[in-house]
Amino acid sequence: MRDHGWVELEERIGRLAEWVADRGVVVLSGAGLSTESGIPDYRGPSGAARRHAPMTYQTFTRDPIARRRYWARSHLGWRVIGAAQPNAGHRAVARLQELAVVDGIITQNVDGLHQAGGAHGVVELHGNLARITCLDCGATSPRRDLIDRLNAANPDFAARITAINPDGDVELDDAELDDFAVVDCTGCGGMLKPDVVYFGESVPPGRVSRSFELVGRARTLLVLGSSLTVMSGRRFVLRAARDGIRIAIVNQGVTRGEPYAGLLVDAPLGVVLPELVRRVEALTYAPHRS
Ligand SMILES: [Zn+2]
Repeated sequence: MRDHGWVELEERIGRLAEWVADRGVVVLSGAGLSTESGIPDYRGPSGAARRHAPMTYQTFTRDPIARRRYWARSHLGWRVIGAAQPNAGHRAVARLQELAVVDGIITQNVDGLHQAGGAHGVVELHGNLARITCLDCGATSPRRDLIDRLNAANPDFAARITAINPDGDVELDDAELDDFAVVDCTGCGGMLKPDVVYFGESVPPGRVSRSFELVGRARTLLVLGSSLTVMSGRRFVLRAARDGIRIAIVNQGVTRGEPYAGLLVDAPLGVVLPELVRRVEALTYAPHRS
């Protein structure tokens, strides 16, 4: 972490508050926003690299054993991910939306915590783990329905959780997972998959165009808790830079957006964002007269 020092940090938050109070802000959020909700950021400062390779679309669809192991880990991991609560950062973003200074929210997170924190109209670039989709008929269904079906199909399944990562899989010995029974679509018998974008998959074009549209109309692109390692998020920063839109980044640790940022705050989001809200409220509320 860079050491801004208190005075410099104060100044940066003050300048950020002025930018945000100027309205027309679009938020782009990443894993760093959810770490304080107990969902680890495997690329961030606290994050050792994940021990388990991320699932790819090709492996998921073509390798029945890998798929079985994925569902077993994901089934256990959901007990943590599904119980996660929005933190002060999520609530701050929702408050900025309520104050009509934030016009759009684009997230790389799949945990649904922006909405749980009160935000609406969120573009979920990489989908949402709480939703299940059928790869054959396209039907979507809530995760909790699937949980019930998996519990019923695996009454004796008891394995140990030793680690958890943002995609919702859990680190377990493969041998512990091979008896796990996977269930299929109730409508067509097709293959079910969490409605999230895996490595090797593209973000659905509608979400990308919606995001470019939001960024194109923005006065400020505010990046929160993203190292911008993956192009699916970084391209919006590149577009904003190309179009001369102001870019502010609040992130703890190194970010690849730094060369484009007019303003960088390297500090915990749970500290910066509530303070930002207080200052924006002070700047946007007209003084009462009597
Ligand atoms: Zn189906």
